[in-house]
Amino acid sequence: MTLHALTIQEARALLRKKEISAVELTRAVMARIHELEEKVGAFITLCESSAMAQAREADRRIASGDIPPLAGIPIAVKDVLCTRGIRTTCGSKILENFIPPYDATVIRRLREAGAVIVGKTNMDEFAMGSSTEYSAFKTTRNPWDFTRISGGSSGGSAAAVAADMCLGAIGSDTGGSVRQPASHCGVVGMKPTYGRVSRFGLVAFASSLDQVGPLTKCVYDNALLLQVLGGHDPKDSTSAPEGVPDYSQALGADLKGIPIGVPREYRSLEGMEESVSQAVSKAIETMEGLGARCVEVSLPHTPYAVAAYYVIAPSEASSNLARYDGVKYGFRAPGVGDLGKMYRKTRSKGFGPEVQRRILIGTYCLSAGYYDAYYKKASQVRTLIIRDFKKAFEKCRMLLSPVAPTPAFPIGEKVEDPLTMYLSDVFTLSANLAGIPGISIPCGFSGEGLPIGLQLMGNHFEEAMLYRAAFCFEEATAFHLKKPPL
Ligand code: GLN
Repeated sequence: MTLHALTIQEARALLRKKEISAVELTRAVMARIHELEEKVGAFITLCESSAMAQAREADRRIASGDIPPLAGIPIAVKDVLCTRGIRTTCGSKILENFIPPYDATVIRRLREAGAVIVGKTNMDEFAMGSSTEYSAFKTTRNPWDFTRISGGSSGGSAAAVAADMCLGAIGSDTGGSVRQPASHCGVVGMKPTYGRVSRFGLVAFASSLDQVGPLTKCVYDNALLLQVLGGHDPKDSTSAPEGVPDYSQALGADLKGIPIGVPREYRSLEGMEESVSQAVSKAIETMEGLGARCVEVSLPHTPYAVAAYYVIAPSEASSNLARYDGVKYGFRAPGVGDLGKMYRKTRSKGFGPEVQRRILIGTYCLSAGYYDAYYKKASQVRTLIIRDFKKAFEKCRMLLSPVAPTPAFPIGEKVEDPLTMYLSDVFTLSANLAGIPGISIPCGFSGEGLPIGLQLMGNHFEEAMLYRAAFCFEEATAFHLKKPPL
């Protein structure tokens, strides 16, 4: 049995039957990480000794019969989530040596559920990017083709899942950062409803858009992880009081008569690759074959979404990132005399070029005299986008679209051209602007054998419906079973 290749569902069953131990499983995953890390570059920090201790503790829990839901399951965590006593860099030099004194709520929930945290995964600096090329440390390579990006910003998490360097991973999604890398690496990624998962201890990028979400090898595992992550948290005033439904209940129900909207504006886009539109057309046929009723809908303000996002996200970022001034956290430029010089030097040395660009854009958009023209206008556009979705959901239960306009692009192709990089988020960032959930599931392969993802978006708190449809699709197609040629 190849232990590292197990799904969470399979591993759980074997652990409970005591056919394998958590220690064995964790060792196997660690061995896999050591075998592949140099080629993939999925991790910033490995937590080998604490992971082994957690595995031993999980074995004790399993032996006692009181078994929490993720007992002994090796999970990788994006380096944007604070982990007590474990370095949390956010992919940035400015936090290179930051060791948080507390756990993010999702980390606490993972620990309480018995998960084994194997390491902290690579990401674009402060989650700003779509390829991990903006990480201050390294670029994560796509396990399907090492010359290509893994997607971003949660590229390390997606690549780690695809390469079996963990059984599941946690990412964050502000404009597509869970769904787009999931799509490029051929795994399942969910961005939950804004407020479904606590943001306490998630290093803030754009607070009105950020949301934590799971990346997994299959839909069942994804539902299982969200079950653990989700729920109200008094430490996050934007976390929703709604209870978390039992997502596993939704898996297995059919799609007969369920109306699925296909947004007209998402079908014809300049720069969209043929293999992507073909895979999506096939997915529509599959959904209809499963009994769903696919109907055309319109999201007329889609052409303005990228522009609105790239005003709102940098504006919030410029405010959130003001705290990194060399006084309280991480890096401080040495040998500078006065305070002003210290701020300037610390920030220009500590932040990479993309983060500096976002801070400059955001500061400009929020400044007196420009606020109305940029930030306020973008917020108005956001309202129009929210209304588009509201109207669409009067006609359908969920929306179906591509995740990204192309499969994973070659490393280096867009790194010097931020505007083209920004355009790769065109299908994903509207869900963040509207606060609705979206899932990415494998739906085919390009001619070069690269994975292609399908996005399903639902109304607020409709994750169960998305899991239901994604599970039916997965059962009917089995794209998720294909593994990268490692
Ligand atoms: N690629 C988008 C950006 O650079 C989204 C990133 C994210 O979701 N964290 O802002």
